[in-house]
Amino acid sequence: MEKSIYMDYAATTPMRSEVLDAMMPYLTDEFGNPSSLYTLGRRSRGVIEEARERIAAFLGADPREIVFTSGGTEADNFAVKGTVYANEKKGNHIITTPIEHHAVLAPCHYLEKRGFDVTYLPVDEYGLVDAADVAEAITEKTVLVSVMHANNEIGTIEPIEEISKVTREKKVLLHTDAVQTFGHIPTKVDVLGVDMLSMSAHKLYGPKGVGALYVRKGTKMVPVMHGGSQEQNRRGGTHNVAGIVGFAKAVELAEKEMGAEATRLSELRDYLIAGIVERIEDVRVNGHSEKRLPNNASVCLNGAEGEAILLSLDMENISCSSGSACTSGTLDPSHVLLAIGVPAEVAHSSLRLTFGSTTTKAEINYVLEVLPPIITRLRAMSPLDASWGKKC
Ligand SMILES: *Cc1c(COP(=O)(O)O)cnc(C)c1O
Repeated sequence: MEKSIYMDYAATTPMRSEVLDAMMPYLTDEFGNPSSLYTLGRRSRGVIEEARERIAAFLGADPREIVFTSGGTEADNFAVKGTVYANEKKGNHIITTPIEHHAVLAPCHYLEKRGFDVTYLPVDEYGLVDAADVAEAITEKTVLVSVMHANNEIGTIEPIEEISKVTREKKVLLHTDAVQTFGHIPTKVDVLGVDMLSMSAHKLYGPKGVGALYVRKGTKMVPVMHGGSQEQNRRGGTHNVAGIVGFAKAVELAEKEMGAEATRLSELRDYLIAGIVERIEDVRVNGHSEKRLPNNASVCLNGAEGEAILLSLDMENISCSSGSACTSGTLDPSHVLLAIGVPAEVAHSSLRLTFGSTTTKAEINYVLEVLPPIITRLRAMSPLDASWGKKC
C-alpha cells in the first residue's frame, strides 16, 4: 500500500480544511487584539464570543462558564490547581485515579510535595472506577475529585454520571478530563453532572494549542495564568483568536457528524480487535469491551516489544502508538497498563491503534495483513527477558 495510514488519532488529529478556512482571516487581516476598543479589536472580540456561545451550547452550558486555554494540559492544570488553591481553607485533599493523563497526574504530584493529600482510587482490570470507592474516599477535607471521562490509552469510558451523584451529595467539586470524548461522544455537562470539564481542539480536527475548561457557575477558582483581566479575570493573556475560531468550527462540524461517525468507528474497532485476536496468539485486549471509545483498539502482543512493533508498522507506512512510555523517552511501561494489573513485561508489548475520519475498512484489513508476520518475527528474534526494557 503506497498511501500512508494514520492510526494515532488519540495523539492528535489532522486539521480540517473548513477549520483552516475559518481561521485564515484571523491569521491575516483581522489581527486586532480582542481587548482593544476600536472596531478592529471589537471584531476579534465578537468572534471569540460567538465561539464561546457555540462551545457552551454544545456542552449545554452558559457561555460565561467557558474559559479558553492553551489546550487540554492547561485546562487540566487550571482545574486541579485553580480549585484546590481557592479552597485551601476548606481542606487539602484531592481524589483522582492512577490512570489519568499526565496533565492531571503531574499537578497532583506537584501538590503532594506541597502538603496536599492525594488519594488515587483503585481501578478494576478494565480501568473502571467504582463510584462507591469515590464515596468512601471523600472526607471533610476533600476539595476536588478528578476522574477522566475516557482514558486515552485503553479507551475505557468512566461512569461519570454515577460519580457525580456522589460528589453532588457530598458537595465536593468534580472535574473530568474530556479531551478524548469531547466532539466524539455526548458530553453534556448537566447529564454528566460535572463542575469542570477539559477540552482540547486538536483532538477533534481543530488546531493545536487551544482548548477550554468548562467551569460551572459559582465554582471558586484562582487563576493559574496570572496576567491581564481576560476571561473574566480567570486566565490572563491575549486570546488565540484564530485558534479559538478554529476550535469552534471543529465543534460545529463535530456536532453534525459525531453520532454517525461513532457508529462507523465502533464497527471498525470491533472488527480490528476481533481480527487481531483471531490471527495472533497470546493477545491481551486492554480496556472494556463496551464502555469504550469508538475509535480505540489497545492490545498487548506478549513477547514482542511495543517500540519494535511501532517501528515495524512505520516501515509499512502505518502510524500508531505503543502504550509504553518508551515513546516519551522513559523506561517505564505505561502507568495505565500497570494500574489495571498488566504485568510490566506484558505492558511493554502494548500497541494502540486509534481511528478517525480517514480510517477505512481497507486500511484495517491492511493492518490485519501486515501485523501477524511482524509479531511472529519479533517474537522469534526478541524473546522477552528481564533486561529488555532497557532497550528503550
Ligand atoms: C491529549 C490529551 C491531553 C492534553 O491535551 P493538549 O491539548 O495536547 O495539551 C489531556 N488529556 C487527555 C486525556 C488527552 O488525551
